[in-house]
Amino acid sequence: MVNMDAEINSAQVNKIEHIGIAVKDLEASNELFEKLLGVPNYKIEDVLSEGVKTSFFKSGPNKIELLEASDKDSPIAKYIEKKGEGIHHIAFEVDDIVEEIARLKNEGFKVLNDTPKKGADNKLVAFIHPKTANGVLVELCQEIKD
Ligand code: ZN
Repeated sequence: MVNMDAEINSAQVNKIEHIGIAVKDLEASNELFEKLLGVPNYKIEDVLSEGVKTSFFKSGPNKIELLEASDKDSPIAKYIEKKGEGIHHIAFEVDDIVEEIARLKNEGFKVLNDTPKKGADNKLVAFIHPKTANGVLVELCQEIKD
């Protein structure tokens, strides 16, 4: 039997693309996560628009993004001030971020940026407000194809 629902709801989020972790000291955390995962980070990237410095690790199918505030007004600085270090967001890969933003808004989620913006690691990103997602900051990301 054909699953009609699956065909109608073709838009969906794919795999977890990465997990974002807020850290106070990126250099120290790079050492820690290198020990934990057994691999060094493959990239450090400043995301000026967000006031963060990011570091990426890959181990097996898993990807971890460490985020350190690069200025005191960045969302990461505020997050650490309020909640301390820890898991900051979960990022899901999507095929069509514009379509997903529209779908999720239609489902009642509050999208923090209606227009996708350029995030770290060659991605277009949008964030879902944690208040509408059981306290979880959700990032949607779509790879930018050259
Ligand atoms: Zn992220």
